[in-house]
This record gives sequence, structure tokens and C-alpha cells, in this order.
Amino acid sequence: MALKKYKAKRDFSRTAEPKGGKPLPKQVRGACRFAIQKHAASRLHYDFRLQMEGVLKSWALPKGLPWQQGEKHLAVEVEDHPLEYETFEGVSPEGQYGGGTVMVWDRGAYYVYGEQPLKSLREGKLHLVLAGEKAKGEWTLVRIRGRDGEKNQWLILKTGGSAKPPSKKAEDQSVKTGRTMKQIAEERDAEWESNRKDKNPSARSTFKTRIKAALKKKDEDQSESEDG
Ligand code: MN
Repeated sequence: MALKKYKAKRDFSRTAEPKGGKPLPKQVRGACRFAIQKHAASRLHYDFRLQMEGVLKSWALPKGLPWQQGEKHLAVEVEDHPLEYETFEGVSPEGQYGGGTVMVWDRGAYYVYGEQPLKSLREGKLHLVLAGEKAKGEWTLVRIRGRDGEKNQWLILKTGGSAKPPSKKAEDQSVKTGRTMKQIAEERDAEWESNRKDKNPSARSTFKTRIKAALKKKDEDQSESEDG
């Protein structure tokens, strides 16, 4: 029932976003994972998602993560998303809820200090360590009382020292495919996949091949930079 709101907001005959309820992909089974998606909706923001209670607990960060020790940014709690949303990248149709380009901006494992994560979540304070590809270090999520008493307002604070913000290039680069927001928007693959899946299987495999090539290139780039 945790995904009731998520499902109510979407027309799955029109969006390629996951419906939820599918068996988990191997890479997310048995681990505590987080993901950050860059989302060019009516306003550009970042969706911060923590795997918890069999769903992705989610916050919209209008200004992304803070990087300087003591800096804090608004984090608006939004509806739980299905676990498989973690890997969603593409374009969800305009006019649909949350329509716009989505990039897998960062992902990795996370840990919660001290008490049990769920207890901390309910108490409104999560002291986190992120081990992502871009975000590495400590952050703290704290629930605050909104101006009109809203209960979905949180702050995300940089704690435990400053962290290195991503380079200008990494800021606009998917950790899943290496693509920029512009490239994702131009290729429109997620939308395209839902509309044309069965009509053009060869184009589909071409897309897969391109993605594989992009991933291979990324691995090569990484080993090059490790060598250098
Ligand atoms: Mn969003």
C-alpha cells in the first residue's frame, strides 16, 4: 500500500516509469542503496531516494546536495517510489505527473548512524553516510515544521566536514549511461520504449548496443583515470 500515492499520480499506459511490484534487479537485492535522479520537470530539481521498507523513500531537493560543512538545503518529502525506479532514466511524457527528463545522477550504498534507520526516519532525523560515485561522505536529514505546518519539509545538512562537489562535467553526466540531460532528452528512450517496444525490435537492440558502448567507454575512462 506504500505505493498507492505513486500509482494514483500516474497513467501507466502513457509513461514508461515502473509500475512497481516487479522482482528486484540483482544489484539492488540485499543492499541498502540510494539514488539521486536529476529531474528537469517544470523546475529542475534532484530526487534523493533511499531504499527502505521495500520502497524508495524520496525527497525532492530543489538545489541538490549541499557540499560545504554546515550548509543546508531544503528537502521536500514526496511519495514513496518503487525500488526499480532507482535505475529509471529517460523522458516521462509531458503532461504526465512529474513529466520531463530524468537522469540517474548518482547511486551507491548508504548507511545510517546509530539507531535503526526506520526509527530514525519516524523520529525525523537521519544521519547518513553516502558511498556514491559523486556523493561521498556524511549528510544529515532533519524534519522541520513547514511554514503552514506541513509535515513534508526537511533540511539536508552537510555534516562531518565538507565534501568535494562534482566537476562541471560530472554535474551533467549520468552514472548509468554517461549521457547529459540534453542527450537523454534528445534520445527520448524511455518514452520511446513504451510506445514502440514491439514495433521496431531492431532499433531497440541498437539502443541497447549504444548503451553498452557508452558503459564500456565509461569503464575505460575510469580505468584510464585510475592509471593516470
Ligand atoms: Mn522529481
